[in-house]
Amino acid sequence: MDDSLIEELRSILGPSGVLTEPRDVERYSRDALTPRGAFGAAPLLDRMADVVVRPASVEEVASVVKLARRRRAPVVAYGGGTGVMGALAPVKGGVMVDMGAMNRVLEVNPRNMTATVESGAILADVAEALERAGLMLGHDPWSAPIATVGGAISTNGVGYRASAVGPMGSQVLGLEVVLPTGDVLRTRSVPKGSAGPDLNRLFTGSEGVLGIITKATLRALRQPEERLFSTFRFQDFEEGYEAVVEMFALGLRPAVIDLTEDAEGVHLYLIFEGYKELAAAQRERSGQVCRSKGGRDMGPTKAILYWDARYHVAEGYQERRQKALRGEKPPQQGRAFDYLHVAVPVEKALEYRRRCEAIFKTYDIRTPEFSIWTEPELFSMLLTPGDLTKEGENAIAVDKALKLAQDMGGIMEYCHGVGVKLSHLLGREMGAGLEVVRAIKRALDPDGIMNPGKLGL
Ligand SMILES: Cc1cc2nc3c(=O)[nH]c(=O)nc-3n(C[C@H](O)[C@H](O)[C@H](O)COP(=O)(O)OP(=O)(O)OC[C@H]3O[C@@H](n4cnc5c(N)ncnc54)[C@H](O)[C@@H]3O)c2cc1C
Repeated sequence: MDDSLIEELRSILGPSGVLTEPRDVERYSRDALTPRGAFGAAPLLDRMADVVVRPASVEEVASVVKLARRRRAPVVAYGGGTGVMGALAPVKGGVMVDMGAMNRVLEVNPRNMTATVESGAILADVAEALERAGLMLGHDPWSAPIATVGGAISTNGVGYRASAVGPMGSQVLGLEVVLPTGDVLRTRSVPKGSAGPDLNRLFTGSEGVLGIITKATLRALRQPEERLFSTFRFQDFEEGYEAVVEMFALGLRPAVIDLTEDAEGVHLYLIFEGYKELAAAQRERSGQVCRSKGGRDMGPTKAILYWDARYHVAEGYQERRQKALRGEKPPQQGRAFDYLHVAVPVEKALEYRRRCEAIFKTYDIRTPEFSIWTEPELFSMLLTPGDLTKEGENAIAVDKALKLAQDMGGIMEYCHGVGVKLSHLLGREMGAGLEVVRAIKRALDPDGIMNPGKLGL
């Protein structure tokens, strides 16, 4: 990248808004995907951005994008850098746009039940601002203390309360987006519309390839009057699964639902929120369903511990990241080498699990944890390898499991996006849909500057 572009960026943002030190550039060129976890895509993580900019307003973002377009320089949005698929990896270099300075909660409106926030706002900060008004945010992922609103929309993340309120995309009422031309699009903040396609959805899960989100109006929920906890233990995963399926069929929607099989056995963690009568009725009827499927009521304690520990993984990740930034040796990570999050139709879920186990056994890979999180279709597996050095074979096994989910009518990833890691499998999942996305991309971003190389574009 030539120096004149950097000078022009400085004239837009001032000297402090443009970072060129290798340390800064490297820091903002990476997310949580490590080369080890990226398998065949690892070489793509070697490329660093050429410069990092820190805009403070939508006008500054628009000016940066217009300049980049004129100079045909790639532009990539950086939220919290917690993505696990390498979606922000600047595979063609260019300008990394850190949204961290645009982190304000602009308005909490208890009457409209909304929060209007800049896209660089950290989810936990938005939740805290809402809490002061007796409200809360529907999206509450493990990474809430470190991920941003813009990143969560762009990956359509899933949080603990998704069974009751849906993923991040469902919390979005209105958006402000700087398009790849530098023009600004604003949608109106109402829950539904029938005048044309839903443009909020166009940017949901789009990994920043169609524009940079600068502002969002999000749905807010009232703080629950009651929060009740239950834990059920099952003899095997199948029994627990039948309980979850029946609860959904009945229309029960606990705020939190997590069926996990690990070294401690098979447990179903349930949390019920809302007005008192609703929470009590949901707990009562869910308990009946669980008992009818063989579940043993273990009381609330384990579910309370589960809830209280929900951000621990993110806190550990943040600590490791900060140590690495200070140049200290981060503590050893566990042996897990991948965590798959697929979705398959309910009628296939148990068969899918059995067939996956067979695949992983062939490759000497262990599956110490299986879970169903938030909906009966959403199935996660933690993987630990017999031999970490067999990277090629481990990657083949993972691809086989992901392709199996697709071949059984499902999808390869339900919450983390595609990034560089899964892009080789997107075409076989989307089919002609990928051509539609390509046509939209060509129309909105004719010069291909916005996060190039992602979503198969
Ligand atoms: C410890 C840990 C726990 C996690 N737990 C969960 C979980 O429970 N649920 C879940 O869904 N995910 C989880 N994740 C993954 C990650 O936190 C989510 O994908 C999160 O939504 C990414 O947000 P971010 O702000 O860090 O985005 P980034 O990683 O910065 O970016 C992700 C993508 O969004 C784009 N982007 C970022 N900001 C904007 C913007 N303003 N406009 C346009 N595009 C933008 C980037 O270019 C990139 O393509 C976890 C990750 C970690 C490390």
